[in-house]
Amino acid sequence: MERTLELNSGAVMPAIGFGTWKLLPDAVAETAVASAIAAGYRLIDTARLYQNEAGVGAAIRDSQVPRGELFVTTKLWNSDQGYDSALTACQASLDRLGLDSVDLYLIHWPQNSRLTRDTWRAMQDLLDAGQAGNIGVSNFSAEQIEEMLDYCDTPPAVNQIEFNPFVYERQRPTLEYCLQNSIVVEAYSPLAQAEHLDHPVIAEIAKARQKTGGQVLLRWALQHGTVPIPKTARPERMRENLAVFDFDLSAAEMAALNAL
Ligand code: NAP
Repeated sequence: MERTLELNSGAVMPAIGFGTWKLLPDAVAETAVASAIAAGYRLIDTARLYQNEAGVGAAIRDSQVPRGELFVTTKLWNSDQGYDSALTACQASLDRLGLDSVDLYLIHWPQNSRLTRDTWRAMQDLLDAGQAGNIGVSNFSAEQIEEMLDYCDTPPAVNQIEFNPFVYERQRPTLEYCLQNSIVVEAYSPLAQAEHLDHPVIAEIAKARQKTGGQVLLRWALQHGTVPIPKTARPERMRENLAVFDFDLSAAEMAALNAL
């Protein structure tokens, strides 16, 4: 399996990333992101909502890894939707991050259709202005994306959704729609927030593969063609969560996990 994939914009994105929700305050986020980059993560996911953009940005700016090799995502919060407010919010995020641009800017949650339309116009202008290298959405259904595709000039490159075996059936139509329309699905809460890592089905596969339950869930997300973005504050788990490119889940194992 490749370590990167190509977006519909032609940009290259890492196949796995590092989530930063709940890494608070900024000093905690800074330490964690610095460790994550040292562990090998090249995709870092934050959001205005997470209130840690300053810490995340500091770690990125201080890193020995060139900016061009890092793929930084942030998100537009609900109260900032609308044309003018989205432009202002993106610049405010960039100011907190201390960066000239992000690689991916996402609408965090859908609101109403009119607002999405106005906001998407701003997202396209942010793309043209170079403040965002790519633009996308999060928590959008297939129907909500389909509506956008009717009027947009630039389609979303990414839809970031909750994706793990425990929500598979609910998310499957969105996943299939996105795959058919060349929209990359990012898998958030790919570890199901570590609430079921000892589930017997996961534990049995983990034992057979000599991997951890977390690694099994991340591999499952990768084999579905999604980009998982696990979060952890612990460096040893950062390394564990990256070590998912040296084994395969069989069709039977995938099916057993799908059924959860
Ligand atoms: P997650 O990554 O599924 O799980 C995180 C939890 O798992 C933390 O409690 C972490 O604890 C634990 N953990 C991590 N690695 C582990 C391992 N190897 N073994 C055991 N436990 C482990 O959940 P998430 O944070 O909800 O989702 C990931 C990222 O997706 C977020 O950080 C955020 O960037 C993004 N997200 C986006 C949205 C959206 O609306 N777009 C919503 C939710 C999340 P420790 O930190 O103590 O290790």
